[in-house]
Amino acid sequence: MGSHLRGRFCLSRAFNGRLVTVSRFLYNRCGLQTWNPYPERRMSPQCMDRRLFLAVMLEAFGCAFAFSVELRCSVCGIEINENEKYFRIQDGKQVFCERCFKEAPRCSICKLPTAQDRIDDATGACSECLARLPRCKACGKPILGTAYHYHYSQGVYCAECRNTRPACYVCGVPVGNTYWQYPDGRTVCSDCGSRAVFDPVEIQATMKDAGRIIARRLNLKLTRPYVLVIERLHGLGPAESDQRETVRPDEKALYGNELGAYRLKDGKAEVILLYGLPPDLLYESAAHEYAHAWQAENSMIGLEPELREGFAQWVAAEVLREKGYLGALEKLEERRDFPYGTGYRRLKILHQRIVIDMMQQRK
Ligand SMILES: [Zn+2]
Ligand SMILES: [Zn+2]
Ligand SMILES: [Zn+2]
Ligand SMILES: [Zn+2]
Ligand SMILES: [Zn+2]
Repeated sequence: MGSHLRGRFCLSRAFNGRLVTVSRFLYNRCGLQTWNPYPERRMSPQCMDRRLFLAVMLEAFGCAFAFSVELRCSVCGIEINENEKYFRIQDGKQVFCERCFKEAPRCSICKLPTAQDRIDDATGACSECLARLPRCKACGKPILGTAYHYHYSQGVYCAECRNTRPACYVCGVPVGNTYWQYPDGRTVCSDCGSRAVFDPVEIQATMKDAGRIIARRLNLKLTRPYVLVIERLHGLGPAESDQRETVRPDEKALYGNELGAYRLKDGKAEVILLYGLPPDLLYESAAHEYAHAWQAENSMIGLEPELREGFAQWVAAEVLREKGYLGALEKLEERRDFPYGTGYRRLKILHQRIVIDMMQQRK
């Protein structure tokens, strides 16, 4: 007690972006060695008065206050003496000695002087900046450049994964380190693959259930018996599988390209569904093909693509709604592609118009 304090006593707080710093004059004389949370008990009356005055002043400015007793360089950790030059960043949290400020390597993101061992080799970022970088959902690495969003995935992806990794056949995102490779060559991400339905009995049951829902809700009933074929991708016939191979990656990112088919072969009707789809997509695809089957029975084969596919999508949407697959429904409704997304929109407008007409006729 009684000796002068060493180090800097400053009351600091960012105020309107500036640092309010009240230096030593206040405490020098009372001789307290360290900050005491209850200084009024041990402070000289004089210092006490000054402290109270200051506290009231700062309160009036809406500031809370904090103490820093000594200054240490954030990079080298050495204490900075009173008469040495130093640098402080705006929020006051980091202080740099002159040497580190001039010579230490800088973080590639915040550009602040940083100790060499706290700089990440791959990105050149300090550990704080590194922790804030988004991470690629496929490779897990921090993304320094552009982070790619995919419409149907929560995560973000790095450019490298986007360009080099295979895209999930179902949802279109670059697959992660673990993924599914189906025997027919389809690559499916772990999210989609873990929900996939492979059991023919379950696929059969889904088709039946979708048909029941459509018959009940929309009164579309099939009279011609059909065979359900559970297919691998390349079983769909040379023309279609060729088409699939030439699909550009961007188009592939569309959720649910045709994932099934309907055909009449030698007078026999066939509904083809792909195995290995997640249940919501299986329902969507079953309903879509059921709608095509109904179109075929009702001589609507020559429809223009937007009406043909839009109708099938519209039927599929009804089934997704009934089943409570709202995520898949949202995806279906958001599609903008021709003829599925554009066709669906046309059908929806048509449907609304009919409903309005009906209501007006009732009046
Ligand atoms: Zn330093
Ligand atoms: Zn940084
Ligand atoms: Zn990546
Ligand atoms: Zn997927
Ligand atoms: Zn279709």
